[in-house]
Amino acid sequence: MLIFIAADMEGATGVVHHDQLMPEGKTYSAARKLLTQDINAAIEGCLRVIPDAEFIVGDGHGIMRNVLFEELHERASLVIGPASPSNKPLCQLEGINDEIDMAFMIGYHSKAGTPNGLLAHTYVGSTICRLRLNGQEIGEITMNSAIFGSYDIPVGLIVGNDDLEEECSAISSSIEFVSTKKVLGSTAAICYPIARTKQTIADAAERAIRKRLQWQLQPFKPTSHYSLECDFYRREHTLRAQRIEGVEVLNELTIKIEAETAASAFRVFWAAVCSAQEDFPAWLK
Ligand SMILES: [Zn+2]
Repeated sequence: MLIFIAADMEGATGVVHHDQLMPEGKTYSAARKLLTQDINAAIEGCLRVIPDAEFIVGDGHGIMRNVLFEELHERASLVIGPASPSNKPLCQLEGINDEIDMAFMIGYHSKAGTPNGLLAHTYVGSTICRLRLNGQEIGEITMNSAIFGSYDIPVGLIVGNDDLEEECSAISSSIEFVSTKKVLGSTAAICYPIARTKQTIADAAERAIRKRLQWQLQPFKPTSHYSLECDFYRREHTLRAQRIEGVEVLNELTIKIEAETAASAFRVFWAAVCSAQEDFPAWLK
C-alpha cells in the first residue's frame, strides 16, 4: 500500500500564528517539529495495520521546505521544493500518480473568508479572495480531494483546525477527521496536548486504512466537468493571470477555468495564480 500525505502547516498541532509559519519567525523551528510529529503519528497508525506500507509526503506549505526530513519516519519519501508551475504544477500534490492507494491531508486550515477562521486562506492569502468549484465556495481540502479524485485516489484522513470540520464532512462523511485545536479567533486557539494529538491522529489513520481495505472510501469526483472560478483581491492580479492559456476573464477581479478533470483545471489555475503575482514571491523561489 502506497499512501500520499499532503502536509500543510497552519493546522498542525500547536500552530496558531504567522510567526510559526515562515523561516523569519522566531517560533518557526519549533513548529516544523510539531508538523513532522503529526505526520509521523499518521504513519505509525497505518503501520499498525499494514507493516510494509510506503509513504510519500508532499511538503505543501509556503516555501515547501518545512518538514524535518531527518526526523521524518524512515518509511516516507519527501517531496521538497517550492511550487513554481515549472516545478510543481499540482502545487501541494505534485508527486501523485496512479500507483497511490489512498491520501491523507495533515496540517490543514479553513478556507479564505471563514468568519474568525484560524489562519484561514485558500492557497495564497495575499492574492486569492475566493475560490469556487462549479459555483460552490471551496478551500484547499476540497480542491485537493478533487485532484486526488482525478487519479482515483480516495482521501482517508484530514487533520487540522476544528473550523475545518464542516468542509471535510461536505467532501465525504467517510473521511476520518482529527482536530488539533479548538479555534478561538484568527490567530489563537486552545491547542490540544502533543501526546493527545499523536494518539488521535494515529488511531484515525488506523481506522482510515481499515476503511480503505474494506473499500469504504470513494475517490471524490463531484462532477464530470470542472469549472473553477477565482476572485482576486486586485484587478492587477486578473490582468497578469490572463496571460495564461485557458484562463477566461469574467470581470476585473474574477477568472474562470474549465476542464474535464479537476487536476487539469488546477494546473491552469495554479499557473494563473503564480502569474498574478508581481514577481514570484520569495516562498516560490
Ligand atoms: Zn500553509
